[in-house]
Amino acid sequence: MDCDVVIIGAGIVGLATAYRLAARFPGLAIGVLEKEQAIASHQTGRNSGVIHSGIYYKPGSRKAENCIKGRQQLVAFAGEQGVPYQLTGKLIVATSPGQLPRLQRLFENGKRLGIEGIRTLDSPLIHQIEPYCQGIAAVHVPCAGIIDYTRLAHTLADRLCQTGRSNKVLTGHQVIGIEKDGFHKRVITSGGLISTRYLINCAGLWSDLVARMDGIRPAMRIIPFRGDYLRLSPQAAEKVRALIYPVPDPDLPFLGVHLTRRIDGTVEAGPNAVFSFKRQGYSRTAFSWNDTKLALAYLGTWRLFLRHWRYGISEYACALSRKEFLRRVRRLVPAIGPDDLLPGGCGIRAQALGRDGRPIDDFVIERGRDSIHVLNAPSPAATACLAIGEHICELGASLFSL
Ligand SMILES: Cc1cc2nc3c(=O)[nH]c(=O)nc-3n(C[C@H](O)[C@H](O)[C@H](O)COP(=O)(O)OP(=O)(O)OC[C@H]3O[C@@H](n4cnc5c(N)ncnc54)[C@H](O)[C@@H]3O)c2cc1C
Repeated sequence: MDCDVVIIGAGIVGLATAYRLAARFPGLAIGVLEKEQAIASHQTGRNSGVIHSGIYYKPGSRKAENCIKGRQQLVAFAGEQGVPYQLTGKLIVATSPGQLPRLQRLFENGKRLGIEGIRTLDSPLIHQIEPYCQGIAAVHVPCAGIIDYTRLAHTLADRLCQTGRSNKVLTGHQVIGIEKDGFHKRVITSGGLISTRYLINCAGLWSDLVARMDGIRPAMRIIPFRGDYLRLSPQAAEKVRALIYPVPDPDLPFLGVHLTRRIDGTVEAGPNAVFSFKRQGYSRTAFSWNDTKLALAYLGTWRLFLRHWRYGISEYACALSRKEFLRRVRRLVPAIGPDDLLPGGCGIRAQALGRDGRPIDDFVIERGRDSIHVLNAPSPAATACLAIGEHICELGASLFSL
């Protein structure tokens, strides 16, 4: 099969990129290759389903810019295409006086970014919005919301295939090698050989490995972090109207256990964040010798463990002990009891880590001569997918002379 552009990975970033490229260059033959039998099988289909506002991100960063722009584009696209979403609003809640300065800094950050409608609340106002939530102060973010990202991924794939007859999403095509062949690349997959002029790597948890197949040596490695969710019983779910988050630790890329109403009406608590011994290890005992060896042979992983060992232990405690998980949930909503936590799902985050052991905070997109590699697209990349896709499309237009 011959393509003009091959995109590796049918998660939300790969599909949004393909959709943007097809809309801008209708004559291109675009092939999206996905190793699984279904699209959105990894981060995209296993996340919290939240439309983030952008309040957490540094002004001037790619995350801030793409999250705010992407959120507006996402809401417009979902509205036009009938993808279910709701702008429920969200509370970020301080539960102790020690958290107040960080909450205030978040609020000021949001103001600087121009996040629409944010305001600070005292305890009585918190109760008006979330009657069961206990906090001494909060920031209310009315433009945050919830959406079904799997449905969104399918909609993007459908629009892509309707735009041009040569556009395809090929599931069951795991890319196992990339070779240069004159002006073309030969992409070797489990489903056969594909020839392409240009390549875009959106392989999420495997993006560093795919970049290496293409001869790129990124100065980072993807480290997988598992996040477990528990579902609230129907009675407890009535105690959460929308989205209730704690004040996050600014040194870490994770937001802390929060309560999230899903678009199907259920409410989830989580996710925690523990090192995963397998890139697709969706159970507590999942283990891959290859993935573990790759992570532990990297100096950055050890530096991260040394720097954040206290945090690591507390996250493992939360993963292993229902009591600890409940304690975190009850800090936000004390009326939730032990019998209200039911088994839930889990997701694995692809977090890029530098050699210095610091999680790379911003999105990272690297260019080859005839390729583009998305090397760090953690949260809020689902919210930002259409803006990221637009950016890659711009980059491709100049780099590939499309
Ligand atoms: C627990 C959790 C909660 C999150 N919550 C939110 C949230 O509420 N809001 C938000 O905006 N973001 C959230 N995120 C982040 C968001 O889900 C991700 O940033 C986003 O889904 C990344 O999309 P992606 O397409 O890059 O990756 P993925 O969805 O992981 O897609 C990558 C695809 O590439 C495929 N692939 C990999 N290697 C190959 C290969 N060799 N050949 C062919 N195919 C390959 C994989 O099978 C996969 O389908 C969360 C993430 C997690 C894990």
